Amino acid sequence: MSNQQAAVIVVGAGPTGLLLAGDLAESGVEVIVLERRGAELSNLSRAFGVHARTLEMLDARGLADELLAYGGARLGGIRLFNRVSLHLADLETRFPYLLMTPQYNVEEVLQKRALGAGARIVHDAEVTGVDQADGKVTVHTGAGDFQAAYVVGADGVGSAVRKAIGMPYPGEAVLKSIMLADVKLTDPPEHSPAITGSHGAFCFIASFGDEYWRVFAWNSEDQKADDDPIDLEEIKEATRRTFGTDFGMHDARWISRFHSDERQVPSYRDGDVFLAGDAAHCHSPAGGQGMNTGLQDAANLSWKLAAVLNGAPEALLDTYDAERHPVGKMVLTTSGAMIRLAAARSRVGGAIGGIAAGAALRFKPIASRAMGMISGIGIHYGHEHGDHRLVGRRQADVDLADGSRLYERLRGGRFVVLDSAVDDPRAVAAASAEPDGLIRVVRPDGYIGWAGEDDPRAIAAHLDAHAGRS
Ligand SMILES: Cc1cc2nc3c(=O)[nH]c(=O)nc-3n(C[C@H](O)[C@H](O)[C@H](O)COP(=O)(O)OP(=O)(O)OC[C@H]3O[C@@H](n4cnc5c(N)ncnc54)[C@H](O)[C@@H]3O)c2cc1C
Repeated sequence: MSNQQAAVIVVGAGPTGLLLAGDLAESGVEVIVLERRGAELSNLSRAFGVHARTLEMLDARGLADELLAYGGARLGGIRLFNRVSLHLADLETRFPYLLMTPQYNVEEVLQKRALGAGARIVHDAEVTGVDQADGKVTVHTGAGDFQAAYVVGADGVGSAVRKAIGMPYPGEAVLKSIMLADVKLTDPPEHSPAITGSHGAFCFIASFGDEYWRVFAWNSEDQKADDDPIDLEEIKEATRRTFGTDFGMHDARWISRFHSDERQVPSYRDGDVFLAGDAAHCHSPAGGQGMNTGLQDAANLSWKLAAVLNGAPEALLDTYDAERHPVGKMVLTTSGAMIRLAAARSRVGGAIGGIAAGAALRFKPIASRAMGMISGIGIHYGHEHGDHRLVGRRQADVDLADGSRLYERLRGGRFVVLDSAVDDPRAVAAASAEPDGLIRVVRPDGYIGWAGEDDPRAIAAHLDAHAGRS
């Protein structure tokens, strides 16, 4: 292949594109990442929370400990409207918390791994067009044309790939003039994160675990365009209205105003072009799910691309949209509900919004469902008629009989069969330390692909359709 050709081109070196490129490269797929920015990493953090399921996925790549080593607060609960707490500590995972760490730390870890595995990142390469013909996709950039069998647009909310393939991005603005600041506090709040609203405003505040705090604030009486100048005093005012104090905010290292859109493409696939992350969906920052959802899109798509390039049937690629589109839709709904609830709470001023939310969330099944969705631990995919009911469910990490863990054995984009007797070169065979008699094929993204009694032919057929040749 020339240096302008690869099996897969990923457009955008944000978190979504970097995870995808690293996975492909680790699976031996030749991959080029086209990025319009220069080589320097951003020091502005949009996302600041890494949820439990994302940490599990990083663990399945040997990256969770690296990210945790940066430090960062580990939040075991979320305090809502001063009256109800959601307990992440109850989640059944090695990571029962929300890790507060800036997006640039996540990008640094993912970029290092992608480059180490052999992905090529071309900087200063702004994509301006995409054409599909004769089983090839050509990507036009200021740095020349590039060609690949498959292209993934992970180029963010303004995606040039999405526009080039004519994919609509329907939706609407949910809330305008949301203010953001990363600040130091003289008198920090007792709980982090905390969210509340009253007197026509709402405010969310959370510690990064170092001296900085992230504040989101919205004030119905202070509505401006995104590019209007913004002053820390406006954020202090909204915070005083809601919490009764501005916590002594000072030394803002970042301050900005933005609007929150809720949009999703109708399909994540058009021929040999796929969309992932913000290019496919965007929503309110409430719940901190944007980056997490994009990373999980990437984890769902990467092994499927690698398998199809390795001879698995093309139809496997359709399952990316089938599995991830409903998740994107659910995230739009939950994050939209949260921000609307905050806005409603700000209007009623007193207790009503909080009482309604509190009453619902004090009912344990609702609270644990909400936590499962926000953390990603409760997300699962559907299964075909006739499949075992566990197919599509997340397989939690388990200890293996040889002293290792399942998520360690998934590393490198491997399938794991939870049964030491199965002998197939396309999967690692590993016995659980506490076998329950049920054999499971765990996909590289940690979901159950097949489950049943001992049936070597069915397992081989599953791997033919999902892993390709040996
Ligand atoms: C204020 C704010 C706070 C947020 N807080 C959170 C949070 O707490 N938790 C959370 O999970 N999410 C949060 N998000 C959302 C999160 O930042 C995004 O969901 C995440 O960055 C999406 O990652 P991505 O890789 O899909 O896209 P991006 O991070 O946008 O990356 C896209 C990349 O593509 C490149 N690119 C764009 N166009 C082109 C082109 N034409 N050619 C080549 N390259 C191109 C860009 O330079 C960029 O590097 C927040 C967002 C905002 C705005």
